[in-house]
Amino acid sequence: MPSQNLRDDADKYLMQTYSRQPITIVRGRGTKVYDLEGREYIDFVGGIAVNVLGHGHPDLVQAIQRQAMHLIHTSNLYYTEPQVNLAKMLVDYSFADRVFFCNSGAEANEAAIKLARRYGHERHGPDRFEVITMKNSFHGRTLATLTATGQEKVQKGFEPLMPGFAYAPFNDFGAIESMVNAKTAAIMLEPIQGEGGVYVADRNYLRNLRDLCTQQDILLIFDEIQTGMGRTGTLFAHEQLDVKPDIMTLAKGLGGGVPIGACLAKESVAAAFTPGSHASTFGGNPLACAAGLAVCRTLLEGKVLDQARRMGEYLAKGLADCKDRHRIVKDVRGLGLLQGMELEADSRAVVADALVRGVLINATGERVLRFVPPLITTQEDIDKLLDVLSAILHQRDTDKALHH
Ligand SMILES: *Cc1c(COP(=O)(O)O)cnc(C)c1O
Repeated sequence: MPSQNLRDDADKYLMQTYSRQPITIVRGRGTKVYDLEGREYIDFVGGIAVNVLGHGHPDLVQAIQRQAMHLIHTSNLYYTEPQVNLAKMLVDYSFADRVFFCNSGAEANEAAIKLARRYGHERHGPDRFEVITMKNSFHGRTLATLTATGQEKVQKGFEPLMPGFAYAPFNDFGAIESMVNAKTAAIMLEPIQGEGGVYVADRNYLRNLRDLCTQQDILLIFDEIQTGMGRTGTLFAHEQLDVKPDIMTLAKGLGGGVPIGACLAKESVAAAFTPGSHASTFGGNPLACAAGLAVCRTLLEGKVLDQARRMGEYLAKGLADCKDRHRIVKDVRGLGLLQGMELEADSRAVVADALVRGVLINATGERVLRFVPPLITTQEDIDKLLDVLSAILHQRDTDKALHH
């Protein structure tokens, strides 16, 4: 079907919840994708931090093919090997003792919020239910997680919101200290705010949060849905920030593109869930977990994490150079292969220009470009991105100078 007809049908048959770029992607290989007309694009979006192994990685493809031949789904009425093996792998390589599997980031956060409330009620009584989240955060689109999300644009029109949430400014320990009270069950945050514009949490801030939580038996929840699975150069971002949470949520990169989410917790916390307290029909299904296992093994046993760390540094340096050369660039920030560039210009127009020049990038908000490529991205890919960005930013600098 020609691209235009497909887009007409999309306008006609799909609920209009997304504004999409004007291309139809039909296949991918490594760090590149191809559209219906056969044009090639270097992928610096990676399915929004999902395709950690790029496209068509043989380890992942083979794991999915093999599992599909054996068993795709059985429900959680029975034991299955991939689910147990993936849980063991995640426990072996994290602070956690137990895992609950679900199908998306929002569901992982729902599980975390439910677990925190159960734990609070059990330990401290029914008034212990409040979750403090951060302004400018992003935790998902279900009613509880959009309430947890500290952004009005995500909440607008869906009121009444869930009770039991409060919002603190990010990286401001004094503010949160004054908000904590007898109702506080948990503090939930992203080690790096991704959708909110790529803001990295301060080490001291996290350490202070950790101490506060430990002193008052408040649960510290890290939403590593975007920052986890090697994105920042270590399996989880908090490893580099020297603070361990009580609960962590994962999704995006975990299945390398196959939908899966997970909520991880320490034993003392996980014990608040008992048979019947939480469930998901698809959660931890053999296909998704086989994909998750292949991703974990390839990240940990292959050289992908090292590659991600090196390429993260290379990208950060290239973007910083860009900032020095172009007045229109206001800030560059991030960790590893989660990088953001704040502009004094419309970020969406830059995304459109880059697309035409064969590079996929993403805008988060009106002013910030976000770069979340596959972890297998190469120096050559990054050089191409930087060339394209430079050309576009140069044009913006010139336009701006003419206007003044
Ligand atoms: C993407 C994201 C979510 C939501 O994940 P979905 O799979 O879209 O529900 C939650 N938290 C963070 C930090 C995310 O980046």
